[in-house]
Amino acid sequence: MPDPFNLEAHADAIDLVVGMLERTSHAVVLAGAGMSKESGIPTFRGEDGLWTKHGEPPLNQFETFASDPGRWWERRLEEGRNDSFSQSIEASQPNAGHVALAELETLGVVGHLITQNIDDLHRRAGQTSITEIHGNRYWLRCMTCEMRWPREEFPIEEDALPPTCTQCGGIVKSDTVMFGEPIPPTALRRCAEETAIADCFLTIGTSAVVYPAAQFPVDALRRGVPLIEINPEPTPLTEVATAVIPGPSGEVLPSIVERLRDRLGGGRTS
Ligand SMILES: [Zn+2]
Repeated sequence: MPDPFNLEAHADAIDLVVGMLERTSHAVVLAGAGMSKESGIPTFRGEDGLWTKHGEPPLNQFETFASDPGRWWERRLEEGRNDSFSQSIEASQPNAGHVALAELETLGVVGHLITQNIDDLHRRAGQTSITEIHGNRYWLRCMTCEMRWPREEFPIEEDALPPTCTQCGGIVKSDTVMFGEPIPPTALRRCAEETAIADCFLTIGTSAVVYPAAQFPVDALRRGVPLIEINPEPTPLTEVATAVIPGPSGEVLPSIVERLRDRLGGGRTS
């Protein structure tokens, strides 16, 4: 077991970050699996990762879907999603880190959140400006025009599979990006646009090594934008970050928000 994180020992770094965020009106955040892990959702890779223990899922998932979407949907409706990963997501709740990040948006500090997480916890915590680059397991997406709908708002008729887009007639699939499936271009475009106007960049709970997501903090740094890293373990960005707080987001973010709230009063409009 690692030592428990000592917030007090990092008071100077937290002060530095609060000062940086006080001058920020469009921070862009890249949030990774570390934030979900703190809500009890297992990660895929690493020591206790699902893939480490059970092996990687088939790499041709998307090919299987695309070759016969109707059959894929039949199976999905018959079998449901009862694997341990699905169960842990269904049982999870946003943690204090998700809630604090949503408050940074309300305070007019965070302008956009890019996440690799598919568990909907950022949205449930109240975050509204989000790009979910790997999709959201509670949503569906049109393969042609990339329109998205919450699953419960999209009626699926069992005798007319696969479901088709109400907008363009294209095939509708689960929003989660499958193995072998490209990340939807509109999502990547939005991330690039938001990063281009960021006045601060935060990487939280991510090792920031998986591309294309890992490119965004690097792009921000190249423009001279300050970079804040909040992650228990060092990453390739640790050396170049403007400020580093090596702790769990569920402890670090609430502490930052508490101090920032006092300084900003009732928030500001940006
Ligand atoms: Zn469509």
